Amino acid sequence: MKCSGFQQDPANNLPLQSIISAVKNMLIAVGENPEREGLKNTPKRVGEFYLDFFSGLNEDPIFELKTDFDEDHYEPVIITNIEFFSICEHHLLPFVGYAHLGYIPNGKVVGVSKLVRVLDIFSRRPQIQERLADQVVDTIHKELGSNATYLFLSAEHMCMTLRGVRKSGSHIVTSTERGDKVGLELIKSGISIDALKGSE
Ligand SMILES: [Zn+2]
Repeated sequence: MKCSGFQQDPANNLPLQSIISAVKNMLIAVGENPEREGLKNTPKRVGEFYLDFFSGLNEDPIFELKTDFDEDHYEPVIITNIEFFSICEHHLLPFVGYAHLGYIPNGKVVGVSKLVRVLDIFSRRPQIQERLADQVVDTIHKELGSNATYLFLSAEHMCMTLRGVRKSGSHIVTSTERGDKVGLELIKSGISIDALKGSE
């Protein structure tokens, strides 16, 4: 992931300063010395990472879909195997996985990269997987007025892997759909055909 590198003087950047003090306090609370060599710059790095990662909180996913255009296309548009990563709001630990996204246009289409951007913007917020899926599907379905919209998400949650049940490799799978049932079946069969090809 790209570190966008905050150019401002950290002393004048209030959000960054707040995270730096919070991380320092956290390190002290767990019994560490935040002044030792290896940790000296950690609070600043964590702060820069958080402000960069959570940039999705300041972005409007609807804006991405404003560049739609009229097109007489009423067949499924499907993007499979989109990598995504987010941070679980309960533990502030990452969850990482892949998505399949599809919709059936109703006279309005949008560049596929814009659909991926919608997933990206909602992912870059403190999230739970279920809400992430709902937000992406609802936004696309409503803004494009599509006949059917479908999102499959499969992700490994570090909070499951590192704590609690401690099961590595298990994925949480969610599928979210809106709209016409026949259209949704077309999208799902398109995704299945692609998955079968991938396993050949
Ligand atoms: Zn969690």
